[in-house]
Formats: sequence, C-alpha cells, structure tokens
Amino acid sequence: MGRLVCLLALVLGACAAPPAPIPADRPIEPAGELEIHVLDVGQGDAILIRTPEGRTVLYDGGPSRTAALDHLRELGVESLDLVVASHPHADHIGGLAAVIEAYRPPSVLDNGLPHTTQTYERYLVAVHEAGSRLLEPEARTLTLGSVALDVLPPPGVASWGLNDNSVGIVVRFGAFRMTLGGDAEGRQWAWWLDEGHVPEGPVEVHKASHHGSRNGDTAGAIGRLAPRTVVIGVGAGNQFGHPHDEALALYRGVGATIVRTDRDGTVSITATSDGRFRVGTEDSSLSHRARTGYDSIESIPPKGDDHAPLGFTNGSGHFHPAGSGRGGGTDRGRHRRRG
Ligand SMILES: [Zn+2]
Repeated sequence: MGRLVCLLALVLGACAAPPAPIPADRPIEPAGELEIHVLDVGQGDAILIRTPEGRTVLYDGGPSRTAALDHLRELGVESLDLVVASHPHADHIGGLAAVIEAYRPPSVLDNGLPHTTQTYERYLVAVHEAGSRLLEPEARTLTLGSVALDVLPPPGVASWGLNDNSVGIVVRFGAFRMTLGGDAEGRQWAWWLDEGHVPEGPVEVHKASHHGSRNGDTAGAIGRLAPRTVVIGVGAGNQFGHPHDEALALYRGVGATIVRTDRDGTVSITATSDGRFRVGTEDSSLSHRARTGYDSIESIPPKGDDHAPLGFTNGSGHFHPAGSGRGGGTDRGRHRRRG
C-alpha cells in the first residue's frame, strides 16, 4: 500500500518533496459549497465539478469543438486540475482538445482504450502537447481538497465496445454523492455491481447513463443507487430519440426528479456537506416550469439517520495537481502517440 501511494505520488511529482501532508485516505474537512454544472452542450456530456476550495474537474467535453470551453470561460474557470474522458466517443471528447489546449490540466484520466477517429487523435495530441499525465483508470480515490472522486474503472475488455468501457466517478462531498457512469450499458453496470463498485443509495444525484437511452442505466443499477435527482445530458431533437421512455420510467420508478439539458439548459447543482443540495437550471422562469412540468429549482433536506456518514477509508490515491509537473508521462507506462 505504502509503495502504491509512493508510486502514485512519484508520478504526480510529489515524492521528492512531499507537500503538506493530507492523509491519503481522508480529504480535508468539508466546508462551503460544492458546485457541479451539467453543461448544455447538445447531444453529449460535459460536467464541471468545482470544489469549495476552487479545485476543478471536467468530466467529458461534449460533441462540439468549442461549446465546453465557452461554458468554462463563462463560468469563470481559470484552471483545471483534472480532465476525465469517460470514453472516446465524439459526444464525450469532441470539445476536450480545445479545453486541454486552453487549460493544460496537469492530469487526464481516460479509459486507456484507443480509438481511430480524428476527434480522438486531436484529443491525444492535445494531451501530449499539454504535457498532461495520463492516470491509470483503476479503482481508486482521488482527493481534491474536501472532495473525493472514487474512480469506477472500465473492465478493459475491448470486445465489449467503448460504452461498456466507460470511466465512471462517484463524487463525494461529506454526505453528498453524485454518480457519473459515462455511457455504461447493461454489461458494464452488471460488472460494476458484481465487482462492488456501485455505491449503495440513496445518492443525491445521478447523471443518466448514455443520455437516457433505454440501453444505458439498468434496473439493477438504479435500484441500488436510488438517486433523488437524475440529470440527463441530451440534445433537443436528437436523432436517437434520447431520452427513451423506458429510462424515464426507470428513474420515476425510484421517485427521482428528472432534469435534462435539452429542456432545462445547463443544470447547476450546489451541495453542502450535510447532503443538502439545490438544482438550478438556466431557465427557471414560471413559464418554463409550466411548459416542462418540472420544478426547476428544488431544495432537498438532509437525510436522516437512514444514511450512515460516509467514511473515506477506501482511498488509495492522493491527488496533487498543482505544480506537480507536466512531464507528459503516464502512471501506467503507457506511451500513446498519434499514428
Ligand atoms: Zn454518449
């Protein structure tokens, strides 16, 4: 274990001169508010996570080359600590090259499986030129200040396809949790469940897998997660008919409130460490609510004793983004290059 931590610290440039010691298995005491913005990028996913300490993570970059970057600038994001590419389909990484070129994040986490598109190549070139380190997509916990990110690993079975090799994340901030599973479909959810990677609910927020497709989230996964709110990253009038009625019924079946970027625009979640959270949408006018039938702003009280406080005992990774070097290395000895 000590060796693993040291190895991780080494690749993050932290071994030679250890920073102020924060125990690897415990983030700093949560205080303030966590912000999560599910960006309106059309048919795709792009989610910005901003900790109370101002640390930032972008999970996926949407289909457009520039929309995610435009959103980040509009939200006043000045730096990114980590970029996560759930899997290399264009509706998830299309905007990442521009984001990585602009922000040069010290660390990038992806599923490690190559793809053959120009979009993927642009992404890889951007990672290489930014000198970002590629993190191993293994089960571990990355901590950024008071926020912990539990990595849900891809199975790494190429024959399952890219959706079922998504990198997922459980965002934890005190008693608040949000789950992000990329475009994971039935096979990956079954595998995550079997391997014990899916947290027991209720989780406060879940990002709909595969844009609310009927072959995204499964009854088993949603039954275990029991999300209070489900956010769907989906484009208006998309050619796939997302979100599908079957998925919406699944979410409603566990009593979840549904918000979706095609109708609500960018969805912003603000959480405190006691598990309270608010969901705000771009257009929260009464007429909009009347039109969509959603409560655009909700405030959900903290959970009672039915939910034991979360521990952080499973953490194995310690994340030191700032000033940790930009050697362009990887922590898996993986040296992907174009061509
Ligand atoms: Zn997708």
